[in-house]
Amino acid sequence: MSKGGKIICIVLALLLAAAGSFAFYERNQAEDLAAELADARASAEAAENAASEEAARLEEEIGALKAQVDELSAKLADAYIAPRVTFSSHEALQGDIIAVRAEMNSAEGLPEIETELGKAVFIEDPAGGSVPEIGTGTEAQSAIYTAYVPVWYAQNPGNYSIKVKIGDREYTDSVTVKARKFGEQHMTMSAATASATIGASNANEDYNQKVTPTYSTAEPVRYWEGTFIQPVSGRITTEFGLYRYTDYTDGSSRRVTRHTGVDISAVTGTPVPASNAGKVVYAGDVIMTGGTIVVDHGGGLKSYYFHLSSVDCAIGDIVEKGQIIGKVGSTGYSTGAHLHVEFKIGSYSLSPWALWDGTSDIYK
Ligand SMILES: [Zn+2]
Repeated sequence: MSKGGKIICIVLALLLAAAGSFAFYERNQAEDLAAELADARASAEAAENAASEEAARLEEEIGALKAQVDELSAKLADAYIAPRVTFSSHEALQGDIIAVRAEMNSAEGLPEIETELGKAVFIEDPAGGSVPEIGTGTEAQSAIYTAYVPVWYAQNPGNYSIKVKIGDREYTDSVTVKARKFGEQHMTMSAATASATIGASNANEDYNQKVTPTYSTAEPVRYWEGTFIQPVSGRITTEFGLYRYTDYTDGSSRRVTRHTGVDISAVTGTPVPASNAGKVVYAGDVIMTGGTIVVDHGGGLKSYYFHLSSVDCAIGDIVEKGQIIGKVGSTGYSTGAHLHVEFKIGSYSLSPWALWDGTSDIYK
């Protein structure tokens, strides 16, 4: 072989080797790429799986949060319209009135009240109304109901419970009754007047037929407005609640009695205005109490006017505060011209003074 031929052979050999190694290199790279591609595919698939798992988890989390939001808004709405029951006072003197208020959604219906102090009923307070419901932009049908609870002048001091029922909810609280100081009076009464009035055989039956039924009724609306007025001015001859010892002109005497109203001395014919607006539930002559008027001011809070010489209204009349309903006299069991005025809830006589001076709990 010539030198040139050798060189050619070497070059050819080198070229062949290079080509072989190149082909080897290409094959390796393809395998690497395929592996890389497989890895990438696997990663993509894993990522996809992870993403869909994460999406499902987030969706679940969103669902739970939405449920929580719903539950909280329901609770908020419920809390907003949940009734609020308040007592004007947790302490009262004998003869006071306790006002129990229920601020609530009127859709729940009239609340009920049960007390150890006496019968009371809820009536709607004209001051009540609708209030905006948080977040909804609508008005909740909110109303205020008030019940007047009597604290009888002779109620034993102690704790008494008051229970309010609104729908299926119950609120119970107690009030403490404290003793009021009452005076005493000694008086002499005509035996003839006594036997013609409280001593008459049909006096009790007559009273029970005409006046006693008013103890168990209650007007379902509130008529009264503003402070009650003392119907006539004059000397107070017998105070509310005092212990009265009566001797009769024939030498007999009566066991001690309690005076359930206030006696105001005034001349016969003095006009008697209604202490506040209300509905006349009795008007007429009664053997024991003479010319008699009973006005329900709403919720069973009533004023009684006795011994009138003239009754100038009729049962069923709606009277205004200050409207003349009768005239002072000395009819029935009476020693002289005066007005006996009394306030009751149920059969329980209450102090007129807090109603007249504006300090009664009914104004709270
Ligand atoms: Zn009297």
